[in-house]
Amino acid sequence: MFDKILIANRGEIALRIQRACKELGIATVAVHSTADADAMHVRLADESVCIGPPPAMDSYLNIPAILAACEITGANAVHPGYGFLSENARFAEILEEHKLTFIGPSSEHIRVMGDKIMAKETVKKLGIPVVPGSDGGVSTDAEAIAVANDVGFPLIVKASAGGGGRGMKIARNAEELPVALATARSEAKAAFGDDTLYIEKYLGQPRHIEVQVFGDGKGNGIHLGERDCSLQRRHQKVWEEALSPALNDTQRAEIGATCAKAISDLGYRGAGTIEFLYEDGGFYFIEMNTRLQVEHPVTEMITGMDLVIEQIRVASGASLSVRQEDIKFNGHAIECRINAEHPETFTPSPGKIGYFHPPGGLGVRVDSGIYAGYVIPPYYDSLIGKLIVHGQNRNECMMRLRRALSEVVIDGVQTTIPLFERLINEPDIVNGLYDIHWLEKFLENSNESA
Ligand code: ADP
Repeated sequence: MFDKILIANRGEIALRIQRACKELGIATVAVHSTADADAMHVRLADESVCIGPPPAMDSYLNIPAILAACEITGANAVHPGYGFLSENARFAEILEEHKLTFIGPSSEHIRVMGDKIMAKETVKKLGIPVVPGSDGGVSTDAEAIAVANDVGFPLIVKASAGGGGRGMKIARNAEELPVALATARSEAKAAFGDDTLYIEKYLGQPRHIEVQVFGDGKGNGIHLGERDCSLQRRHQKVWEEALSPALNDTQRAEIGATCAKAISDLGYRGAGTIEFLYEDGGFYFIEMNTRLQVEHPVTEMITGMDLVIEQIRVASGASLSVRQEDIKFNGHAIECRINAEHPETFTPSPGKIGYFHPPGGLGVRVDSGIYAGYVIPPYYDSLIGKLIVHGQNRNECMMRLRRALSEVVIDGVQTTIPLFERLINEPDIVNGLYDIHWLEKFLENSNESA
């Protein structure tokens, strides 16, 4: 096991990882930018090192500074959290070269899954269902038309190097196809420096359902059930739940077993998430994330497993601590992402928090690094915390969430809490009847009537 772990991240996830380290008796090193000197992740760590000025490029993404911080403090492993360097294969490789452990999968698996065409080909061979579309990349209009003749319109043109919803264009018919290709190509070139495109059938009303997987790199793979993250705004998840209200136990067991087998066949090590679009009973792979996800707590609440502790154990060379048959799903959990943003316009609202009162009581969990007097810096993601609620069933979970939301007090900045207060009273949300477009339509309608 490791003596000391450096956490190459900030905010709630840095705290979340520290908590796991503390429970394991492992010392923690926080790194921070000059803008985060007063952050809770710095205050609660055993040691901290300032690694640069506010822009992430110069601090949280600054690999030489992070290596130097390991050297100075004697940390022997690095947990990257999510975002920042968590899916940077080169970073994982550099750590290996310096005899430091990257708490995550092998650099090779990160690289394969980071290239969408390669990822799709890899998982297809492992028996995971994918969206019908082009076989690999598409470079000419003629090739695109051939795909259209094969799978039919509407189509979506996507960038192989894509991420964050960029470089994607929908073509509803043959006239729109060349335009979609040209705009996706130039967007991909500008955003990722790589204009390799591929094409998929565009699904009209899918849900976003993702399977949490874990491997130990020794051929053992398990799944921890799924999360439904269909409530999204601009492809960003807003509300996540486990398990999905749309699946029955048979579907769950089937897709879970398919994913677990793929992970064991791949010899994958660490936590991963296999993301699918789900429509009319069919699953269609979209991507695999080779890291811990923001929404991992809902899985923890229904399985009782600490995913960060499991990541650390597996990275240190241990086998998985549980077998598939040991994993039982207990009740229902929902996570609301609390952003420091205007709840209707979603413009960022950085600044000083005056008063903060977190909710509590049975089944309520708050993962956040904020405190009264904390100044939210303007340089980073606007996520300031997550409210996670667990109940014995979805109905109890919703009642508890309503109660918990009514207790939260955060003043001084605007937050997305009022949005959740509206969502829990919507019949479609109460009944679990929503697809990936539901939230955008809801927001559009409320803007029109305002
Ligand atoms: P990124 O890595 O940029 O987030 P993804 O491939 O994960 O890209 O897709 C992001 C989102 O785009 C999905 O959650 C979904 O809303 C939409 N999307 C992607 N592929 C399709 C598809 N084939 N049909 C319909 N919507 C899609």
